Amino acid sequence: MIALDQHPSGRHFLQIPGPSPVPDRILHAIGRPTIDHRGPEFAVLGKRVLSGIQRVFQTRHPVVIYPASGTGAWEAALVNLMSPGDAVLMFETGHFASLWHRIAVRLGLQPEFLSVPGTDASTGLPWSWRRAAQPELIEARLREDRAHAIRAVCVVHSETSTGVISDIAPVRRAIDAAGHPALLLVDTISGLGCADYRHDEWGVDVAMGGSQKGLMLPPGISFNALSPKAIEASKSAKLPKAYWAWDEILEMNKGGYWSSTPNTNLLYGLAESIDMIFEQGLETVFARHQRWGEAVRGAVRAWGLPIQCADAAACSPLLTGVITPVGVDADALRKLIHERFDLSLGAGLGKVKGRMFRIGHLGDSNDLTLVAALAGVEMGLKLAGIALAGSGVQLAMDFFASHPQRAPLKAA
Ligand SMILES: *Cc1c(COP(=O)(O)O)cnc(C)c1O
Repeated sequence: MIALDQHPSGRHFLQIPGPSPVPDRILHAIGRPTIDHRGPEFAVLGKRVLSGIQRVFQTRHPVVIYPASGTGAWEAALVNLMSPGDAVLMFETGHFASLWHRIAVRLGLQPEFLSVPGTDASTGLPWSWRRAAQPELIEARLREDRAHAIRAVCVVHSETSTGVISDIAPVRRAIDAAGHPALLLVDTISGLGCADYRHDEWGVDVAMGGSQKGLMLPPGISFNALSPKAIEASKSAKLPKAYWAWDEILEMNKGGYWSSTPNTNLLYGLAESIDMIFEQGLETVFARHQRWGEAVRGAVRAWGLPIQCADAAACSPLLTGVITPVGVDADALRKLIHERFDLSLGAGLGKVKGRMFRIGHLGDSNDLTLVAALAGVEMGLKLAGIALAGSGVQLAMDFFASHPQRAPLKAA
């Protein structure tokens, strides 16, 4: 057993898709002394993070910041918008969509799950966990709902359990084409800060974000990005809400404060994360993750293993799901890699448990740490007796060498 503060191999390789490795700059920012959250200095920090996070969501409208993990942001969105027994249409893209569905059930809503039907014969896995949300299915279901009973459409943008990204703009168009008044709720908890997300342009009513994935922070902050329509809807929604209620928080936020104690030190980290993102620019940050995704997918193809995302246009820039051959327990493989190389990989969750593992390529990473991570996986695959078609590490090295990163490696 390794003591938590003593990794024999130097820094642990945290290659899961969240929490992601936290840059030293952010860790140092978080280590500053905690200040009075009602004092004058705090308002400067509060206003800075509130306006900075709007730029990350690409919105002019308010973003609520909660001292909670992503799950809290799911619950917050539903309790602020819904009334008991409301129908919501959710798209089954994987484990996180399923957990959100379960929260809706627990809150007394009536969620309906839309799924891509069928099973992929070659892997035995459900197609719905290998594909993106399908706007045509959403539009067809909304057209049937002539009484407009469905209050919201809920889609996971970055499905972290599979490595599939769903296109959000066509979902908005599908709702509008059906002439349906449903609100659009989008979970971009893992994508925020590394996969392009445009709140206003895409017409999303509430988006959920989290700190410990694309934003490169430790766990402990989550977000609800709002639209004017969502704020209006929250005024007549009847589910009980107290801690999560937007109204009191938004009122206090006007002065840079919160109605209860915010997590000051994580907000220092958030301010630093936002600075780091805008020193490079959003476009550059997105391109960096796309490039890493391409390299890792190339490596997986070189090994001859299937990628969980079956739709080339929907592959995630922040993680890659790898399906293990039938009969190979992916959890045993992860355990072996962890024990031998001190490298953590993401587990297969829910319906794909034991059938796949996930490689995160987000947070404090670079070409060399990714090549090292791929080397750990490749050695583990060989130790587990899996026959590989070729070397993924070699492919990734060739890819990085022949595709230089366009942006400078370090801030000036
Ligand atoms: C991580 C994650 C969540 C849940 O967030 P917690 O921080 O674990 O509560 C929800 N949705 C997606 C897509 C996620 O990646």
